[in-house]
Amino acid sequence: MGEWDVIAVVEHDTDDARLAWVERQYWIDKDVALAAAEDWLAELGPGDHGALGRRLKVQVASITTRRGDPSAGATGVQSILRWAERHGELTLQSRCHDVLGSIFEMVGDRALSLEHAVATNDLIGEAESPLMRAAARLTLADALGSSGSFDEARRRYDEALRLVIDDPETSIRYQILNNLAYTEYQAENHDEALAAVESLISLSTLHDRPIGMYARETIARVYLTAGRLDEAADTLTAALAAKPVDYHPDSIAAALVTLAETYRRQGRLDDAQAVIDQCRELTAEYSLVRWATEVSREQAEIHAETQDYRAAFEAYRRYHEQSIALGASENEARGRVLEAMFQTAESRRESERYREMAERDPLTELHNRRHVDERLAALLQSLREGGPSVAVAMLDVDHFKRINDTLSHEVGDVVLRTLGGILRQAVAGVPGAVAARLGGEEFLLILPGLGAVEVRMLCERVRLEVSGHDWSPIAAGLGVTVSLGVAIAPEDATTSSSLLRAADVRMYVAKRDGRNRVVHAGD
Ligand code: GH3
Ligand code: MG
Ligand code: MG
Repeated sequence: MGEWDVIAVVEHDTDDARLAWVERQYWIDKDVALAAAEDWLAELGPGDHGALGRRLKVQVASITTRRGDPSAGATGVQSILRWAERHGELTLQSRCHDVLGSIFEMVGDRALSLEHAVATNDLIGEAESPLMRAAARLTLADALGSSGSFDEARRRYDEALRLVIDDPETSIRYQILNNLAYTEYQAENHDEALAAVESLISLSTLHDRPIGMYARETIARVYLTAGRLDEAADTLTAALAAKPVDYHPDSIAAALVTLAETYRRQGRLDDAQAVIDQCRELTAEYSLVRWATEVSREQAEIHAETQDYRAAFEAYRRYHEQSIALGASENEARGRVLEAMFQTAESRRESERYREMAERDPLTELHNRRHVDERLAALLQSLREGGPSVAVAMLDVDHFKRINDTLSHEVGDVVLRTLGGILRQAVAGVPGAVAARLGGEEFLLILPGLGAVEVRMLCERVRLEVSGHDWSPIAAGLGVTVSLGVAIAPEDATTSSSLLRAADVRMYVAKRDGRNRVVHAGD
């Protein structure tokens, strides 16, 4: 990296500190946030950079999808989410759900949006910064509000506000108050909407920080509904003149539509017409389909006010057509997102199948050594945390070499497969038990939660079932016996390797003492 590239980067002692800074920028300046994440990703270069690389990618997706095509970010974030789930990365999972929630919100799927918003909150830890916790609450509040649960939404907005009450640096409080005001406006709680708007204004006065375009539009809309037409008009004309940070075609169009409505209700019909003409040009230039629809609706109202009913009818018809087209394009966007996610779910099922295959022995279809290592480690961990005891029984076929040598390798294979079936049956009634083939003619039973006596009975039953099995269909005169060595955690050992070693030693004792027997502790 050249010397020049680091100029804008604030120095941090650790990756964690730098990541926190990058994520915080989201609420200070989204352009800086985007550049900081992209620069860091470029610095890391190609390859897998674990949770860090993925946190940065989610931040990039979070900003770019909100600015563009929601289906583009969906698949990437979805697969990062799967990775985070496999690796137990809760914070990363929470961030992924946050972005997915807003993607579904954008395409108008409220149920999925709410589902992801709930997961965002469930997965966020108390150790996370108040800003991040407030952001998660805000996401949930928005999702609840758009699905009509206004009381639930209000509660989350309040919680979010309380979390960032001492945070003058970021814009999150403005966002929370704006969304709260808009939610109250939609719920037709006009007093509460006014109260939220007034908090927003006094916050901005207190910190001498300009309010954004969208928030000013919310304020104007609340004034408009309260019949405070002059204040609504002043708010909007001041906003359009001030060009705050989020002054861009979409927010300008929103302000113009509300301004036209305000003028109309003030009886300033020529001004209203001029504003709506200006807005129509803007929507055409930037393909703002949603606002083009609103322009037609407001145009119809203006025509009706001037008693040009023919023109009003035409404008209404256009509004109707545009609404249908808008609904269709939202449906299409939703379809694209769902399709992208479905494909990811499909490939996930594929990889789960491969993973499952990777933990099975193909000959006997029992679990293999890899699975044993994972299961045993997990069971011993839970034992340390107060879980049940864990017994293991190492099992080896007696004189198996003779079967191969005197009959054939194929007969040997059939014996191993049959033995696999017997072992599978033997553990079927024990919750959490595993029958595995470790290799060759060596098997292992993992028996969690059984007392020493139960383990004894089960192993003895296995021994008798093998020796008493009718092996003659495989080869005339064939007899098969097995030797077993048993060890139990925590009495014999508490780590996987020492527990397996203890069982192995006892299995050899069983061999030495004449085979076809089970050896336990103290035998
Ligand atoms: P012991 O009672 O002392 O265990 O005697 P053994 O003959 O069973 O012991 P040994 O370890 O000498 O022989 C194991 C044999 O198992 C050797 C190997 O050829 C055979 N074997 C290992 N894997 C397979 C397999 O997948 N299929 C078949 N048919 N034989 C296998
Ligand atoms: Mg053997
Ligand atoms: Mg052996």
